Amino acid sequence: MLPRRRERERIQARFDESNRMDLERLLQQEGCPICRVCDEHLERGRFWFFTEAYGEGSGVRKYIDYWGFCEKHTRMVAKIGPKWQKSVIYSWIINDKMPIIQGLLGALESYRKSNFVKRTVALKALRKAISDARPRGGCIFCENITWTANYYIRTLLDALTHAEIQDLYRRSSGLCMPHFFQALESLKEKYVPQLQEIVKVQLERLDQLKNDFEEFFRKEDYRFSHEPKDKEQFAWIRAMKRFLGETELSEC
Ligand SMILES: [Zn+2]
Ligand SMILES: [Zn+2]
Repeated sequence: MLPRRRERERIQARFDESNRMDLERLLQQEGCPICRVCDEHLERGRFWFFTEAYGEGSGVRKYIDYWGFCEKHTRMVAKIGPKWQKSVIYSWIINDKMPIIQGLLGALESYRKSNFVKRTVALKALRKAISDARPRGGCIFCENITWTANYYIRTLLDALTHAEIQDLYRRSSGLCMPHFFQALESLKEKYVPQLQEIVKVQLERLDQLKNDFEEFFRKEDYRFSHEPKDKEQFAWIRAMKRFLGETELSEC
């Protein structure tokens, strides 16, 4: 028993070490580290999806139940998905859903023809048919992003107990606001010092933006308008990126 436990601990330690190295790499790059890792995982997930999952068990069930993907990822699939896979996906959804929509038509007809006695039962059946036709579950790509964000926010919170990660975090861009709020939702007693660190860095980054805006408005004043324009001119795009998440806006 003991060697097996040691083996498990050894694997866990190696796993933690690899996560920490991953985090160190992410913190040394520009922008929200969680957004970045979500992008990386989504790219891998996309490759896996179009290679295998589009035609296999749970992957198929997910996009059929949801009637495809969310708006953002439908655009992504339209742009990068191979034609064969896209045709398979949408034809399978239609094949699966048409009988359900036919059932809904039948339920509407039954309700219309039902007499006073059968009306309650017919209405119940109609409500069920409407519910069966609606999208269920979620977008497979959004789920990939949610899983990655949750996993890496936990990794960050655990790793922030190490001085070298704390130091890297203080010098990093910090989190975008959506991931900042997501980190706060992970509130547990053991995470309070790490959350305090995250909030401190967030305040510093907001303060940098505040200063940039003050500089922008100062240079708009005719007395200083001759001064050369600088990074304050793009404070608004940095604020938008921070508020929305780094991946949502392209560079201006
Ligand atoms: Zn982010
Ligand atoms: Zn999505």
